[in-house]
Amino acid sequence: MEKIKMITPLVEMDGDEMTRILWKMIKDELLIPFIDLKTEYYDLGLEYREQTKDQVTFDSAYATKKYGVAVKCATITPNAARVKEYNLSQMWKSPNGTIRAILDGTVFRAPILVKGLEPYVPTWTKPITIARHAYGDVYRAVEMKVPTAGKAELVFTDKDGNESRETIHEFDGPGIIQGMHNIDKSIESFARSCFNFALDTKQDLWFATKDTISKKYDHNFKDIFQEIFDAEYKDRFDAAGIEYFYTLIDDAVARVIRSEGGYIWACKNYDGDVMSDMIATAYGSLAMMTSVLVSPEGNYEYEAAHGTVQRHYYKHLKGETTSTNSVATIFAWTGALNKRGELDNLPELCDFAKKLEKATIDTIESGHMTKDLALMTKLDNVTVETSESFIKAIRANLEAML
Ligand code: NAP
Ligand code: MG
Repeated sequence: MEKIKMITPLVEMDGDEMTRILWKMIKDELLIPFIDLKTEYYDLGLEYREQTKDQVTFDSAYATKKYGVAVKCATITPNAARVKEYNLSQMWKSPNGTIRAILDGTVFRAPILVKGLEPYVPTWTKPITIARHAYGDVYRAVEMKVPTAGKAELVFTDKDGNESRETIHEFDGPGIIQGMHNIDKSIESFARSCFNFALDTKQDLWFATKDTISKKYDHNFKDIFQEIFDAEYKDRFDAAGIEYFYTLIDDAVARVIRSEGGYIWACKNYDGDVMSDMIATAYGSLAMMTSVLVSPEGNYEYEAAHGTVQRHYYKHLKGETTSTNSVATIFAWTGALNKRGELDNLPELCDFAKKLEKATIDTIESGHMTKDLALMTKLDNVTVETSESFIKAIRANLEAML
C-alpha cells in the first residue's frame, strides 16, 4: 500500500513519562506504516525544557500559530518534588498554560463513547463537549481577611486619576472579602472560539452564567456573547442548522442532566473547572476524553486530557508490564490529522483518521482493552491487554479496514 501524503507539517509536541512511551508506540505502529508523516518536532519532555530554559515550549506555540495544527503529548508540570527529581534550575511553568497564553485559546473537552462503557446518566447517548474560559474570575482574585469592624469598598482609579467607588459591606466584626476581575478582550476571544468550534463540529452551543444575581459582572459575559453572535455568527449558525442558546447556570445544569448530549457547553472559568470533572467522571474516565485548544484565529492544538501517568511509568522503568490506556493520545493524533486533512484538502488523510478512530473503538467493543476500562466495562469476555498489545490489536483492525 502506498503511504498517504501530507502537505503541511503538524507541529508535534513530545512529552513525558508513560505518555512519551505511548507516543512512540502510536507513531511506530499506527501512523508511520500508513502515512508519509510530516511533523515539525518539538521535544517538550522536561529534560529538554530544562536544557532550553523552556524556550522549546514557546517555540512550539509560535510554530502552532504558523502552521495552524499541533498535537501534544502530556507533559509534567513541575512542582517541588519534580524540581528535585529532574534537578531543575527553575520550577518551569505548565507548558499547557504557556501555550494557551500564546494562542489565547479555549479548551474543548469531549468524551469518547464506546459500547460497554455506559455513562452514569443513561440519557447521554451523545458526547457533551465542555468549553472552559481559562482566564480570570476567582483564579485571579485578590482576597483579604477582615480582622475587625470597618467598611470595605471597591475603588477603581482610571488613568487620569478619577475614582469610582462602591461599598462592598459595612462590617461590624471580622469577615472576608474577595476582588475578582475579567477582561472584555478575553471574554470576546472565548466567545469567538466557542462559536467557531460550534460551526466546525456542527453542534449547538449553550452558555450559562448567573446574570440575574450578578447584574454587571456575569451580565457582561452574556452581553458580549450575544453581541458577537448577532454581529458575526447568526447567519452562519442558521445556515449550518445549529443554535446558540443562553440560560441561567442552574437551569443549564438541570437541562444537561435531562439531555441526550450532542452540544457544546461553554462555561465560565470556575463552572468549567467543576463541570468538566463531573462530565468526565459521569462518562467514565479521563483516559477516554479528547481535548483540543482552539484559538480565536482558528489554530488548533490537540492533546489527551489526562496527565503523564507517572505511576505506570515507574512500573515500566522497573521492567514490569503496564496496561496504560492510549485512546486519548491516539485521538489527539486523529484529531490533528483530520484537521490537517481538512485545511489542506486531503480527503485521504481525513479518511485515515476516521478509520483509526473506528479501529480503536472496535477493538474495545470486541472486548480487547486496557485494565482501567476492563474494571468499568459491562461487556463479558474481556481480554486485558498490555499497553503494547492493545496498540497492536488496534493495528490489526486498522489493517483489515484499509
Ligand atoms: P495522571 O497522569 O492523569 O494519572 C492519574 C491516575 O489516573 C493514574 O495513576 C492512573 O490510575 C489513572 N490514569 C490516567 N491516565 C490514564 C491512562 N491513560 N491509562 C490508565 N490509567 C490512567 O495524573 P497525575 O498522576 O496527577 O499527574 C502525573 C503528571 O502529569 C504530573 O506531573 C502532572 O503535572 C502531569 N499532568 C499533565 C497534564 C497535561 O499535560 N495535559 C494534565 C494533567 C497532569 P492508576 O495509577 O490507579 O492506574
Ligand atoms: Mg478541576
